[in-house]
Amino acid sequence: MELWQKQLSQSAVKVKDLPFIPESDEYRKKLEQVSENYPIRINSYFLEQIKSSNDPLWKQVVPTLEELDDFVQEDLISDPLNEEGDMPVPELVHRYPDRVLLMINNQCPIVCRFCTRKRKIGFPGIVTRETLRQGIEYIRDHPEIRDVIMSGGDPLLVPDKELDRILGELRSIPHLEIIRIGTRVPGTLPARITENLCSILKKYHPLYFNMHFNHPRELTPEVEKACAMLADIGIPLGSQTVLLKGVNDDSATMKELMQKLLKNRIKPYYIYQADMTEGTDHLRTSVQKGLDIMKDLMGHTSGMAVPYFVIDAPGGGGKVRLLPDSVIEHTEDEVVITNYEGKVFRYSQRNGKNGSSNDRSIPQNQDMCQLPA
Ligand SMILES: *Cc1c(COP(=O)(O)O)cnc(C)c1O
Repeated sequence: MELWQKQLSQSAVKVKDLPFIPESDEYRKKLEQVSENYPIRINSYFLEQIKSSNDPLWKQVVPTLEELDDFVQEDLISDPLNEEGDMPVPELVHRYPDRVLLMINNQCPIVCRFCTRKRKIGFPGIVTRETLRQGIEYIRDHPEIRDVIMSGGDPLLVPDKELDRILGELRSIPHLEIIRIGTRVPGTLPARITENLCSILKKYHPLYFNMHFNHPRELTPEVEKACAMLADIGIPLGSQTVLLKGVNDDSATMKELMQKLLKNRIKPYYIYQADMTEGTDHLRTSVQKGLDIMKDLMGHTSGMAVPYFVIDAPGGGGKVRLLPDSVIEHTEDEVVITNYEGKVFRYSQRNGKNGSSNDRSIPQNQDMCQLPA
């Protein structure tokens, strides 16, 4: 058994395995009820990183009784993004014109308490050989699909041989240009990134990783090494982050995280407003919180460290990007903007002496740069 398999087999999966929870029998009994609704998994590597019940890592994976309280409206709650509504075949979401999300398993190295797929993750018999076969066949039959995001569950929990087979089948589809792997494995079970796995992955370029990091503490030396192995075999690494109350809902933490990602050759891609998933109310923030954080990032640190802030529209509208306001006024004549320091600037759209037109072309004889003939 490899180290990562051992760490998975020694996961906390029951209430009695959980770190830093109240002793009271009554509390634990109620927590059992939570775990019947939403499974628990914390692999032993991640468990070791948790230092207290106030730890941002603890909050992501240890269930609390708050999961039983829920104030989310309507019946979106178990599937807030209405993924089931956009599945032409089981476990494949085709929402955007040219790309699909394909679930290749439904297990994760840790079960996140705020998971948008709480309805699926950790339950048996959801993703099967047959659903996978149908998903791949669907992609093969739809030439407009040029991008597949393998997701789950976590694709990297699939054994090497099987992963090799799936990637090989996808790569044999001529119209499929890029393959993305959506995974939390490098940050939560770094021992899974083995030489053998790398030797498989590097056969399937262009292959992209969309990883998931929520707090700078997740970037331990082991995790940094795993990410370096992936970067060294030429995989462009990206990260997405979920905005979570008490975990990363302050600008200093978020900035530290984004900078630390870049230092590890990981490009921050998205910050998500937390989805309206049942049982996750206590981890959600206001949207304004996210906008404030974006304002504190933009201009204050490398542009490359600034991801897009998105709401994945409830009910299946897809991702919508939000920006803090930078346009104060926008008329035909001028645009008034404000920069990261709050200073105001005017950009004129009038030009020329008589000018209303703004598409004046540069006269031939006034080129800035004369090239040798
Ligand atoms: C996020 C997502 C994608 C990928 O979106 P990008 O903006 O291209 O990264 C594709 N399909 C679904 C259903 C998604 O939720």
